[in-house]
Amino acid sequence: MKVLVNRIAGTAFVLTGWADNYLSSDRIGTSSGAMNGDAAYAACREQGTGVQPRPGRSPMFKEERTASQFNWSMLGNLAEGRPNLGDSMNVAVYRLMQFTLRDVLIQKVGVAEADGVFYDAGKRAGEEFYHNVITKKGSFQEFVGDLQASLRHLNIGILRLESADLEKLNFTMTVAEDLDCSGLAVCGEQVCTYDEGFIHGLLASHTGRNFKVREVDCWASGDRVCRFVAQAV
Ligand SMILES: [Zn+2]
Repeated sequence: MKVLVNRIAGTAFVLTGWADNYLSSDRIGTSSGAMNGDAAYAACREQGTGVQPRPGRSPMFKEERTASQFNWSMLGNLAEGRPNLGDSMNVAVYRLMQFTLRDVLIQKVGVAEADGVFYDAGKRAGEEFYHNVITKKGSFQEFVGDLQASLRHLNIGILRLESADLEKLNFTMTVAEDLDCSGLAVCGEQVCTYDEGFIHGLLASHTGRNFKVREVDCWASGDRVCRFVAQAV
């Protein structure tokens, strides 16, 4: 396996190096070709999503919207912005943000709605992750191989495909050392709702089908890995 090089180019996060043409520089941008704020705004307008940015601003989070406005360039230029601290941080900080956000959402809209928000956000993340990091793959095997390598490289988790029915598009997969839950106190709950959506977004992007994804085992429910069952619907 070739050495994986992780670099930040322009305003886009780019992974290159472990497979030929893993990500070509023109696919998600280089320092000369990355989508800047104006280009991102233009793209939003082209997509007809109706965002109304304030004058002199590119759309980010202060614009009302009825459809997703997220795009990869919103992740920013980490090389420029964090020259000393880099692109990593402690897992506890990630969980602090996610769990406090979920706590407040539950207070404001209830458990079911909060779960829906996390699932849908994970799904958007999975879609963007597929298009910007994994990219279109010719086979399911190639897709899973790249996904495993990416999740491992980014310290998200260790993915294993337990079963796959490629005709029915039914899959069972496990994630060990999961970013969201491994090491949590056992509470008898499957808590990786964001991951369910993330897997949904990945699978839907690769297959063009819609999916139902459910976590059936979780560190927080007493297992050592998270286990996800995904079924095309
Ligand atoms: Zn879990």
